[in-house]
Amino acid sequence: MNKQILLAKRPEGLPDPSTWKLVSTGIPEPLEGEFLIQQHYISLDPAMRGWLKDRKSYIEPVGIGAVMRAGTVGEVIKSKNQNFKIGDFVSGWGGVQQYSTSNGENYFKVDPSLAPLPKYIGLMGMPGMTAYFGLLQVGKLKESETVLISGAAGAVGSIVGQIAKIKNCTVIGIAGGKAKCDYLINELNFDGAIDYKTENIYEAISKNCPKGIDVYFDNVGGEILDAALANLAMHARIVICGAISQYNATGKIQGPSNYMSLLVNRATMEGFMIFDYRKQYSEAIKQYTLWLQEGKLKSREDIYEGIENFHNTFLRLFSGEKLGKLILKVIE
Ligand code: NAP
Repeated sequence: MNKQILLAKRPEGLPDPSTWKLVSTGIPEPLEGEFLIQQHYISLDPAMRGWLKDRKSYIEPVGIGAVMRAGTVGEVIKSKNQNFKIGDFVSGWGGVQQYSTSNGENYFKVDPSLAPLPKYIGLMGMPGMTAYFGLLQVGKLKESETVLISGAAGAVGSIVGQIAKIKNCTVIGIAGGKAKCDYLINELNFDGAIDYKTENIYEAISKNCPKGIDVYFDNVGGEILDAALANLAMHARIVICGAISQYNATGKIQGPSNYMSLLVNRATMEGFMIFDYRKQYSEAIKQYTLWLQEGKLKSREDIYEGIENFHNTFLRLFSGEKLGKLILKVIE
């Protein structure tokens, strides 16, 4: 049988268990030109919260009763498509289910002998691509700059900081709790870490970035974005990658009030969508492979098991009870 998580209703605020419905259906048969994938791992991403909202965005919302959208990596176990053979490992948008079929559109083959499968939905997947192009192309990072990152111990943030270190920058990370801050400094070699749950964020940024911030890579929005705006260096770039602190807001979301700092400092603030960089992904993968071989880059996956545990695992994105890339193993 194929266990699936369907969207049962649109949540208000933080999703509760009634948002989802777990069902078991037959394993689908691939049609002519299609192949069947047995999913091994499902990627849990903050963006999934946005896909639950019935409003215009960069992608259609997930429909009520539809399988929850998610990135996946798994093995082809039946094929009627000459480009994908039984035994190939593939990554794509399989959704929160154990089996799915595809005609190959937006799927790519991955090689588990080069990197363990979970890395293809982490460093070598969407979060890794986001870090690379967000920092280097949107943030236009230059050697020796001061870089501040929120959500710094997460899937995207932890890679952003390491790339900035490779580029000889001074890197300050913002994360929730001492354990994550210690991880940033002791394991990932960051120059400083700010625990936004216990420190005054305005004072801590000013203390850690005495010359001002050249690049602020924002994953969380809200008050932390405001505090970063208050501490910019001249010609700073703010990269709007995400705003997780606002994703479960029920009223108006908190916008930046210190935005006049952009004018004073001749700074820019720019948002981006990683899918626009699709054609350049191979460049990032080549560079990451090299940095991994040289021991310059670490990536960490936090893997939980069982499709039945989807809801509780998904909530870890918002509680912060996880380190690195959050993944659900669904193969039994
Ligand atoms: P992640 O960092 O692995 O997980 C989310 C983290 O956010 C949590 O671990 C938690 O860490 C932090 N967090 C949760 N609620 C928070 C709050 N209220 N205030 C401050 N921090 C909070 O997620 P990710 O996959 O790397 O994604 C990071 C951001 O990038 C998200 O905003 C996501 O939407 C965005 N994103 C954008 C693109 C794009 O194309 N623009 C692509 C991928 C991801 P703490 O324990 O430190 O609080």
